[in-house]
Amino acid sequence: MTEAEQLANARVAVMSEYLLRLIAWRKRKRTPRNASETGQRVCECGCGKRFKPYRANQRFASPECRRKAWQKSREGSHID
Ligand SMILES: [Zn+2]
Repeated sequence: MTEAEQLANARVAVMSEYLLRLIAWRKRKRTPRNASETGQRVCECGCGKRFKPYRANQRFASPECRRKAWQKSREGSHID
């Protein structure tokens, strides 16, 4: 084996290891785990987004969602 071939083989080894790690990482990210395992919740505004609550009583994925839910509850109550 020439030096150039050895170098090429080493590069292939590094690349394939990198790809394997990338695939493993993407699989891990894509695989949905259940909420209790990840500490995630489903947003209560109805958008279906999953989020990790910063506080124990957080119910919405974002302030936008909270606003949406608030507007919805106002519409439902017909106060205006
Ligand atoms: Zn939402």
